[in-house]
Amino acid sequence: MTEAAASPVWGDPAAWENPPALHGEVAADICVVGLGGSGLAAVGAALEAGASVVGIDAGPIAGGAAGRNGGFLLAGGALFHHAAVEAWGEERAVGIYEESLAELDRLAAELGPIVRHVGSLRIPASEEEAEDCAQQLAALERHGFPARAADGPTGAGVFIPSDGSIQPLDRCRLLATRALEHGARLHCDTPAVALAGDRVTTPAGAVRCTAVIVCVDGWLERLLPELDGQARSSRLQMLATAPVEPGRIPCPVYDNWGYEYWQQLPDGSVALGGGRGVYGEAEWGREAEPGADVQEWLERRLRERVGVAAPVTHRWAGVIAYTPDRLPVFAEVRPGVIAVGAHSGHGNVLGSAAARAATEIALGRPAPRLARLLRPEHWN
Ligand SMILES: Cc1cc2nc3c(=O)[nH]c(=O)nc-3n(C[C@H](O)[C@H](O)[C@H](O)COP(=O)(O)OP(=O)(O)OC[C@H]3O[C@@H](n4cnc5c(N)ncnc54)[C@H](O)[C@@H]3O)c2cc1C
Repeated sequence: MTEAAASPVWGDPAAWENPPALHGEVAADICVVGLGGSGLAAVGAALEAGASVVGIDAGPIAGGAAGRNGGFLLAGGALFHHAAVEAWGEERAVGIYEESLAELDRLAAELGPIVRHVGSLRIPASEEEAEDCAQQLAALERHGFPARAADGPTGAGVFIPSDGSIQPLDRCRLLATRALEHGARLHCDTPAVALAGDRVTTPAGAVRCTAVIVCVDGWLERLLPELDGQARSSRLQMLATAPVEPGRIPCPVYDNWGYEYWQQLPDGSVALGGGRGVYGEAEWGREAEPGADVQEWLERRLRERVGVAAPVTHRWAGVIAYTPDRLPVFAEVRPGVIAVGAHSGHGNVLGSAAARAATEIALGRPAPRLARLLRPEHWN
C-alpha cells in the first residue's frame, strides 16, 4: 500500500482557526451538541428564529463524519426509492423524498459554489442489480421524481439529475463562520460529559439552556446509551488520488448496490469509498483510523473498476451509525434533549433537514412534516 496523507481530501478539520473551548458557565435558549453539517444547521435555524444558541463540539468543526464523507448529495433516504417504498410505505417514502429535494434546493441557495449540481449515477455491478436499477427508475418515474436510464458497464443504471456533490468541510466552516457572525457562541474541544434538557456539562464549564439538540452521527449510542440497539456505529473508509484529466467522471457514481462510490473533484482528483460489502462485519465499532485491508481493497477497485492509475494521496476513515430501519434517530431521548443522528450513511441532506426540524420542536413549535414522516411514532 502506498504512502498517503492520513487526512480527508477535503482538508484537515483541525487545521483551521476553530473556536476555542468553553471555560465557565454560559446560558442560551438552545444548546446544540455536535458541530457537523447537522448541528450547524440547527444553530442556523435557532438564530433565524431569534433564539440565543451555544454550540459545542468535542473536537474541531466537522471533525466527525461531516468532514470525512464522500461528498454525495443524494435525494431520498438511505434506501433506494423503490426499496424505501417497500420498507417505509409509499406515502412516507414519497414525503421523505420530497423533503430531501426541498433540502437540496435550500443547500444550493445557502452554500453557492460549495454545492455542485451535477447529478448522480448508479451503475449496476451485476444483471441482478440492473433489474433493481430498473425497479428504482420505475418507482422514481411513477412518483414524478427526476430520473432517467443511463448506461453502465453491465446494463442500464439510473441517472438522477437533482443530485450532486458538496465540499463537506467547506460547508461546515462556512456555516460556522456565518453563525459566529450572527451571534452564536461556538466552542470546539468541548465534549458534553453530562446531558440534561436544562444543562449540558463540559470538562471546564456548562451551558444552561431550555432545550438541547444532539446532532451526532457516529457513536451516538456512546453519548446516549439509551439509544444502544437503535444506533450502531461503524467505520467507513475512503481514499483520494492525485488529479487525472478533469471531466473524466462527470458526476458522483454509486456502484455495487451503493457499497462503492466515487467522484472526481473540481481539481481532477478522484475520491473513492466503500468496502462494506466485503468488510462490513469487521468495521462495526471501529475507530476512525484507516485500516490496511479495506484500503488495499479500495485501491484495487480504483485501479480495476474505475480505471484510475494516479497515485493515492489521501487515505481516511470516519464513523457513522446505522439504524435497523435505515431511518435516522429523531427523538426526545431525555426530557428536553432531542437527538438527531444515525443517518445510515446518508446524512448530508436529510441530516441538516432533520436538525432544522428538531430546532422547531425545541423552540416549542409544532413538529414539522419531516419529523412526522421520519418518526411518526414520536411526532404525530
Ligand atoms: C467515509 C464516509 C462517506 C460518507 N459519504 C456520504 C455521502 O457521500 N453522502 C451522504 O449523504 N452521507 C455520507 N456519509 C454520512 C455523512 O457523512 C453523515 O451522515 C453526516 O456527515 C452526519 O453529519 P452530522 O453533522 O449529523 O454528524 P457528525 O458528522 O457525526 O458530527 C457530530 C459531531 O459531534 C461531535 N461530538 C460527538 N460526541 C460529542 C460530545 N460528547 N460532545 C460534543 N460533541 C460531540 C463530533 O466531534 C462531531 O463533530 C459518509 C460518511 C462517511 C464516514
